Amino acid sequence: MNIHEYQAKELLKSYGVRIQEGIVADSPESALEAAKGLNEQTGTSWYVIKAQIHAGGRGKGQIKETGSRGVVLAKKQEDVPTKAADILGGTLVTIQTGAEGKKVNKVLIAEDVYYPGASEPKEYYLSILLDRGKGCNVIMASTEGGMDIEEVAEKHPEKIIKEWIDPKFGLQGFQVRKIAFKLGLEGNAFKEMVKFITSLYNAYVGSDSSQFEINPVLKTSDDKILAVDAKVNLDDNALYRHKDLADLRDVAEEDPLEVEAGKSGLNYVKLDGNVGCMVNGAGLAMATMDMIKLSGGEPANFLDVGGGANATTVEAGFRIILQDPNVKAILINVFGGIVRCDRIANGVVEAYRSIGNIPVPIIVRLQGTNAEEGARIIDESGLKVSSAITLKEAAEKVKKALAES
Ligand code: GDP
Ligand code: MN
Repeated sequence: MNIHEYQAKELLKSYGVRIQEGIVADSPESALEAAKGLNEQTGTSWYVIKAQIHAGGRGKGQIKETGSRGVVLAKKQEDVPTKAADILGGTLVTIQTGAEGKKVNKVLIAEDVYYPGASEPKEYYLSILLDRGKGCNVIMASTEGGMDIEEVAEKHPEKIIKEWIDPKFGLQGFQVRKIAFKLGLEGNAFKEMVKFITSLYNAYVGSDSSQFEINPVLKTSDDKILAVDAKVNLDDNALYRHKDLADLRDVAEEDPLEVEAGKSGLNYVKLDGNVGCMVNGAGLAMATMDMIKLSGGEPANFLDVGGGANATTVEAGFRIILQDPNVKAILINVFGGIVRCDRIANGVVEAYRSIGNIPVPIIVRLQGTNAEEGARIIDESGLKVSSAITLKEAAEKVKKALAES
């Protein structure tokens, strides 16, 4: 699960990680209040207004309606509400959002931390994630902060420092010092970086996260190390033990159909194709999507209804698939292992009747216990539903349905 920058920074701060301070706002008026509050808290008189969306590249991104960038600097407090107004409610397009962009509902009013001083501020890159190949966490760091790290990794892989953490021993002090040393730091900045990485790692482990990306980490002109940006990805499977973090979910950032499917216990991912599919089991769902492609269609979604499919889950699945206007045919592919095919067939017929007129053809392929009886129930239902026993047969029926649509 992704969270917003302002939420991620609060999480980091609670573990002692130094951050660029800020106050979140959802209107030009509250943005001004936030700026005043921040001035009292930190003494700053320059402010950075940052769009809060679940995507990066905001600094270079643009608001469609106003042309404003997603991250802007205000050198006067009275400019904060007008600059916030150019971002709030707008659609921010960045390299990570796709052309349609994302609606901005909140902005973070942050203190300016790039102030002049004894030395130039310098940007670094830090991330922590699970290296699945090595079976342990890895810390990645680079002096090339603030930039597109994928590009650095491609053109200058030697500029990416990696330190793997043995789960038996945890993060060791010498490892942290090695990273700070390789980043070329010394004196107070070195000590600050050691503290920063150590607290950051504690936050990562303590929150059961699956990815942290801090880009940029800033060395201020007076040698403080702090997080200017924070991307935090929490492990969904561990959210049950972090009630407070689970509450940070922002459903406005998620696909509405996926949210609805989640409520019915369905595993749904929307895609761009024209054949809706409803399957029990993730592996069979993947195989079904391949089959749809082979028969000349494109899957409109991934939908795993789980092992215990019944009339209620089938109906919920139908309703979600039908909300997608691109769907020209629906393929239901269920293996009757735990659940019997005749029960699924009855469920499909019941769901069909309950929804009423479904405008697209439905092909039901049932295999396993009581498959023939299931096919008979479908064929005799008098509805616009046809059955298939083999995958090949189902593929041909999908092809035919698409040709006729
Ligand atoms: P992203 O573009 O979505 O990754 O958003 P970031 O939080 O990384 O901010 C983008 C850029 O804004 C940073 O790389 C900085 O160059 C700039 N920025 C962020 N905070 C400040 C600040 O306090 N002062 C100034 N002058 N620039 C800032
Ligand atoms: Mn960033």
